Amino acid sequence: MKKFCLYAGLSLFGFTAFAQKEVAYTVSFPNAIHHEAQVVLELTDIKAGDVLFRMARSSPGRYATHEFGKNIYNVKVWNNGKAVSFEQPAGDQYRVKAAAGKLRLEYTLFGNWIDGTYAGIDESHAHLNVPAAFLFPLGMDKLSRKVTFNLPKGSEWKIATQLKPLSETTFTAPGLQYFMDSPIELARYRQALVAERQTNGKKQRIWYVGHIADDQSVADQYAAMIAKVVDEQAAIWGELPAFDYGEYRFLHDVHPENGGDGMEHRNSTVITQPRKTVKGNESQLLGTFSHEFFHAWNVERLRPKSLEPFDFSHSDISSELWLAEGFTQYYGNLVLKRAGFRTLEECLHVFSGIVNTVLTSPGAREFSPVQASRYAVFADAGVAVDQTNMSNIFTSYYTYGASVALALDLSLRSSYRLTLDDYMRALWKNHGRPEIPYTIPNLEKTLALLTKDEPFARKFFADYVYGTAKPDFAALFAHAGFILRKPANPALYTGLERVQVANGEARISGSTIKGSPAYEAGLDAGDIVIRLGRQRINDASDLAKALEGHKAGDSLDLLYSHRGEKKQTTIKLTESPVLELVAMEVAGKQPGADMVAVRAQWLNSQIKQTN
Ligand SMILES: [Zn+2]
Repeated sequence: MKKFCLYAGLSLFGFTAFAQKEVAYTVSFPNAIHHEAQVVLELTDIKAGDVLFRMARSSPGRYATHEFGKNIYNVKVWNNGKAVSFEQPAGDQYRVKAAAGKLRLEYTLFGNWIDGTYAGIDESHAHLNVPAAFLFPLGMDKLSRKVTFNLPKGSEWKIATQLKPLSETTFTAPGLQYFMDSPIELARYRQALVAERQTNGKKQRIWYVGHIADDQSVADQYAAMIAKVVDEQAAIWGELPAFDYGEYRFLHDVHPENGGDGMEHRNSTVITQPRKTVKGNESQLLGTFSHEFFHAWNVERLRPKSLEPFDFSHSDISSELWLAEGFTQYYGNLVLKRAGFRTLEECLHVFSGIVNTVLTSPGAREFSPVQASRYAVFADAGVAVDQTNMSNIFTSYYTYGASVALALDLSLRSSYRLTLDDYMRALWKNHGRPEIPYTIPNLEKTLALLTKDEPFARKFFADYVYGTAKPDFAALFAHAGFILRKPANPALYTGLERVQVANGEARISGSTIKGSPAYEAGLDAGDIVIRLGRQRINDASDLAKALEGHKAGDSLDLLYSHRGEKKQTTIKLTESPVLELVAMEVAGKQPGADMVAVRAQWLNSQIKQTN
């Protein structure tokens, strides 16, 4: 969605629409309480022939395929004022044999899921992700869109979106790609100005829009917190992006029944969080804001070629999400520390989680960050009723990519007097600001030019991006005076951590982890653990009791039920492989002045140094 009119290659369907100027929608909410909206789509000047309409199966920012066609029904079509029949060649497609002139299509949309992907309609709001709500004609992607909302009487709804307003209730987009990327929140919301800044002399205004139960003062205070995150991120990149209409919106929806989600877009982001209020949860909720705003640079403008343009018939597969999401994940946390919203201890806790995940999970042991990125088409809120072996073949590209960012940041700091911020600025200059989509070789080349060390860049990418080698994190952390080590008293490891106890039954909830004691003992998803050693397992605490007095290397008999049949096996306890990450001071040592300097430059505010 880099530029607004990219994709016109859909001539397969053999119809034309030369005279057609725009695709117009009108949306009303006669049955909001039961989660329905009525949508009218109008084409005023089509040529005679077949017109094919479809619902999307993918959504900008969501990497897995979704069936949005399932939630539209009561489709009716009029051609020049006369009701006409149509075909439904696929679940989400409608074909009309039209005479030249006007075509009007009407349907009911159902939406009862509040997150960044779907649509949610009720008496309090309409929360619309465009691909989940709007049927579109094929082959007309370049035509501008116009959408008009008939607000429910007495609702006091206002409309917040990155679409360009023509009035308070009518908005336009320059084409399909931008339209699909523009979520819309209709609600009685709170609004607060986060920041007004300049990019190349152009005014940039960033807004907080909150469909929240809190009063205005909470929204105002929260906007001030977000402003610190915004400025800390701008310091990394050297500037704010130039937003398309000079504006950016955080569309925040907070309600206990919401899904927890953040979905980045070009000039806005949707953040839904399952809480009663913002008040009292400010700092906790801020992580998603930090992550999503970082995307305004990383992925929205510094954009992998593989995601260009959006293909709405299925999700695009990308090898680069370890950077697009993983580096965003790394910085989302780091920026909160720099902006003063996280303590050093909290920051180290996150780093330790990242490192332990990639050092211990089979998905990272056997698959590369590139492969993890490509599995996103199934993993990113992908929906399936059958079981997958995800816990053994997949490590989240968020975490995996964050580990690559962490390793690269510390490598640049310790060997090149450079930082990952320098690298991000170099990528911004070459690919982000000019919006030239990148490939992995482009990323490698930028690293080689920045470090003036081509062999280093080649090896780093071969080992840690294309390959499954793991960086020496302990050595890297040591440069900043942090110690990554085996804890003094490591916990015992059984591989039975995913047991769920209900009604006195301890059932293994997913595939056991490859290489774990439980896996080696032949235990599998669905097995019920009956007795471990001499301990009968009826509740969660029984598992801990069974291990009392034992040490790594001990073997315990285990009685279990497999598909209704009682079986016996032996489980050999090992030490937990989880490492701890602590500051040298905590371990009773004093970090050197150089280490203290590395820490400060890495973890403290960067705002003064760039302004
Ligand atoms: Zn993200």
